[in-house]
Amino acid sequence: MEREVKFATKCVHAAEKPDPAFGAHTTPIFQTSTFIFENAEQGAARFAGEEPGYVYARIPPNTPTHAVLAEKFAALEGGEAGQTFASGMAAITAVVLTTLKQGDHLISTDVVYGCTYSLFSEVLPGLGIDVSFVDTSKIENIKRAFKPETKMVFIETPANPTMTVCDIAEISGLAREHGVICVVDNTFATPYFQRPLELGADVSLSSCTKYIGGHADLLGGIVAGKKDFMKCLATIVGYTGGIMGPHEAWLCIRGLKTLHIRMERHAENAMKVAEFLESSPRVEWVRYPGLPGHPQHELARKQMSGYSGMLSFEVRGGVEAGRKLMDNVRLCSLAVSLGATDTLIQHPASMTHACVPLVVRKRVGITDGLVRLSVGIEDPEDIIADLKQALEII
Ligand SMILES: *Cc1c(COP(=O)(O)O)cnc(C)c1O
Repeated sequence: MEREVKFATKCVHAAEKPDPAFGAHTTPIFQTSTFIFENAEQGAARFAGEEPGYVYARIPPNTPTHAVLAEKFAALEGGEAGQTFASGMAAITAVVLTTLKQGDHLISTDVVYGCTYSLFSEVLPGLGIDVSFVDTSKIENIKRAFKPETKMVFIETPANPTMTVCDIAEISGLAREHGVICVVDNTFATPYFQRPLELGADVSLSSCTKYIGGHADLLGGIVAGKKDFMKCLATIVGYTGGIMGPHEAWLCIRGLKTLHIRMERHAENAMKVAEFLESSPRVEWVRYPGLPGHPQHELARKQMSGYSGMLSFEVRGGVEAGRKLMDNVRLCSLAVSLGATDTLIQHPASMTHACVPLVVRKRVGITDGLVRLSVGIEDPEDIIADLKQALEII
């Protein structure tokens, strides 16, 4: 048997095939909506799924550019197949539509990306799908939430923006016992630090807009999982669209080639910034899974090989002090999104999680003073110096 190459080598080489037409070294951008059939019989065979190949860019495998990205991502996640999307939310929507129908029940982490929360709490109930939001860091809560109609457990770990970590292996095991699928939003960790499928989850998805693309210059989403599920997902994609553009797919392929290097640096910098913030008398608390004081630090150590580049903290003086900090940073950009080469700072209660009702934010720990930081790959001394000067002003 051929020796399996390591993760870094997969980032660079997995799924890459020299272009058969002209021998181009990098994967070409197939900027086309449709594909020419050699004859009518071939067209019919492709549509019937009897012959592999491309038919129309909305219908999986979309285009060869999309196919390379999907295969590369699946290789990194340890999945059997992958599928690209126009955004992370398009990916989550398609996964939900693949699995849930009227009368079904979904169990979700209570702290999830703001738009995931809105999709689950506002859109799904209108389709007759019942949703329970629970603190998935405690397995008893999930056990209690199961109903005969439950079809899916959706978890986000580390969660946005509280950095709460939940046990992927334990929750996947519980889901399997109940015969339901476990989906993990792996956007914060990326497959470099955490591979949910290897821990027993059925589906792992990510917003490519963040670390996968890595340069804050595209929108995209991606899913990896087992062949059977991915086949059903592909059918839904064919019907609903929401696929990635070919240029974005190419940018993601390029982004993934340096994923391992960028993630190392993001995590190294985040640890230094977290330690600095923790030592600052002007900071009330810091949440970073890599800090021994994080409530699920031991679990994070067990299921992640590093702690990624995201952290949250609260400045003494609450929301006003936090606002002042964000208005006075110079190197850090005051912007939502995350996983960029640049350090990004934002205020979830008034920005990314403003759509989450105040009572829910309070219950799950998204305090009004919580500041979220996506630590970039600049020199850590410069990031710390910037935060220090801004903290001194407040
Ligand atoms: C950004 C994000 C999403 C949504 O991704 P888009 O590409 O913005 O649609 C979903 N989950 C998490 C954890 C995110 O950070």
